[in-house]
Amino acid sequence: MSHLAGSHLIGAHTKALHETGKQEVVSIQNHTKQPTNYRQQGTVWRPARDMQEEPVIPAPGLFATLVLPRDTDHAGADADADALPTVGECATHLQLLHVFYALRVRIIESAELDKTFGVEQNRTTVWRTRYSGRYGRSEKYQHPLGDATWKARRKEKFRYYLIVAAARFQEWVKKADAVLAETKQGTGSLCLAFLPPLDVLMVWHAFLLNPRDFEDYCRKHRLERIRKVPFPWAQIHSAIDSRTDTFMLPKDAAASADSTGLAPDLFAFLADVSKAPSSVAPTLARKAATTSAESNFLLVLFTHGGTPATPNTTTATATATANSNTALIANVQRQAVFADKMHAQLWLRSPAVLRTLSRAISRYAQFLALFRAHPGQTLVPALDVDLAWHTHQLSASAYGAGVRARAGRFIDHDDKLGVGVLKGALERTAEWYFVAFGGLYAPCLCWDCEAVAEVLEREANGDMDEDGDGDGDLDGEEEEDRMGRLVDAVQDELHYYRSVEAARRARKQLPVREKVPA
Ligand SMILES: [Zn+2]
Repeated sequence: MSHLAGSHLIGAHTKALHETGKQEVVSIQNHTKQPTNYRQQGTVWRPARDMQEEPVIPAPGLFATLVLPRDTDHAGADADADALPTVGECATHLQLLHVFYALRVRIIESAELDKTFGVEQNRTTVWRTRYSGRYGRSEKYQHPLGDATWKARRKEKFRYYLIVAAARFQEWVKKADAVLAETKQGTGSLCLAFLPPLDVLMVWHAFLLNPRDFEDYCRKHRLERIRKVPFPWAQIHSAIDSRTDTFMLPKDAAASADSTGLAPDLFAFLADVSKAPSSVAPTLARKAATTSAESNFLLVLFTHGGTPATPNTTTATATATANSNTALIANVQRQAVFADKMHAQLWLRSPAVLRTLSRAISRYAQFLALFRAHPGQTLVPALDVDLAWHTHQLSASAYGAGVRARAGRFIDHDDKLGVGVLKGALERTAEWYFVAFGGLYAPCLCWDCEAVAEVLEREANGDMDEDGDGDGDLDGEEEEDRMGRLVDAVQDELHYYRSVEAARRARKQLPVREKVPA
C-alpha cells in the first residue's frame, strides 16, 4: 500500500531530478563546475587533503567478480555454456571504452602527432588597410586568415594512427596464436600470457565485435587458438587507471611486445618520430599532406622496425596491406561512436552503477530469449543491453556457445545497419519485449532516473520501514515527509558524485564528504 503511494509521490520528483541532472551534466562537460564547500543534511564537502583521502569512484567492489586466469584451473575452467557476462566484466568494459575515448582525444589534440603526420595550420595572411589616428593617415597591415580545415584535418590523425594500429594487430594476432600453440594448456579455454599494446587491443576489441568476420579471418589465416581466448578482463582492469582514463601495459607485457618488434606504446612511438632528427619525419610530413597517406605511415612503421618480419617492404606491398586493413579501421571507427555514447552516459561514475549494470545483464538475458521466441528476426538492443551484448562477444568462443544455448542460434552483430532499418527494428523489439516481460524496453538510463529507480527498488524490497512498526505503512503526511527526505538524499548523492567527476576532469583534488559535528 505505502509502496504504491511512495512510487506515485517520488514519480513526480523524478522528472524534475532528470531535468536538473541534464543541466548539471552540461556544466560538467564544459568543465565549468569546480568543487566548492557545500553543506547539506549534516554533511559538508571539502577538497581532499591528499590522494589517500579521495573517494574511489567506481568503487573497487564493482570489480570483485573478475578472476585472473592463473586463479583458475584451465583443464576444468570452461564456464557453463550459458554463462552471461558479469558486472565486473561490464564495468571493466566501460573502463576500457573510456580509455579508448581519452586516447582518441589525446591523438587528435597532440601537437607532436600533428608534426609526425604533417598536419600543419595554413598561415595565410592578406593585406588590409586601416586608418591610423596617430599618424593621421591610412596604413597597410597583414591580417591572418583563419584555417577553416584545420580542425577536420587534425581529426584525421586518429585514422592515421589506426592505419598503423591495424598493421600491428595483424602481426600481433599471428604471434599470439603461435605462442598459444606452444604453451601447454588444458583442453578448456586458453589464456593470453601477455596483454597486447593498447592500439592492438583497440583493433582486436573492435574486430571481436564483428563475430562472423573474426571467425572468417581466423579460418583464413589458420589461427586456431586466438578465438578460444576469453577476453582478458582482469588483466585489462589491472592495467587501467580510472582516475586518469589511462592504460599502462605491465612491464613483462611491454617487454614481450618489444621483443617481437612491436613498440609497447604506439602513441609514444609516433610522438618520438616527430622529435627524432631522422629523415623519416620530414618525408612523412611532406607525403602525408598529399594523397597516399596510408602507404607512407606504413613505410615509417616498417622503417622503424615495427614489423621486422617484412623489413624490405616496398611501398606497393605496404599499400596492399593498407587496403586489407581498411575493414579493421572501419570497425574501430564504428566502435568509437559507441565509446562516445558510453562516455556521454558515464554510468561507471554514477551512484547507481551497480544497479545499471546488473539490470543490463538480466535484460540482455531477456533480449537473447526474444531471439528464441522470434526466429529469423532482426532484434535491436537497447543501449544498456548493447553494453552487455558487446561484453559477451569479446570472448568469442564463449559467446558462440552462449548464444546458441540461450537463443537457439548463432547471432552475428551487425553494426552497419542503416538508421531507418534500426528504428523500425527497435520499435518492434520494444513491442515484443513489452509483451514478453511487461517492462519498458528503452527507459531513460540517466544518473538521476537510475538513482530514483534504485531507491524505489530498495523500498519495494521492504528495506525502508521507517516508522518501525513492521508493516511499512505510514499515514499520508508521514509518507509525504518521508518521500521528501528520500528525494533530498538522492539529490544530495547525485550532486556529490557529479562534483567528484567535475573535479576529476578539472584535475583538482576530489571532494570528500564529512559529517558536521552536531
Ligand atoms: Zn532520466
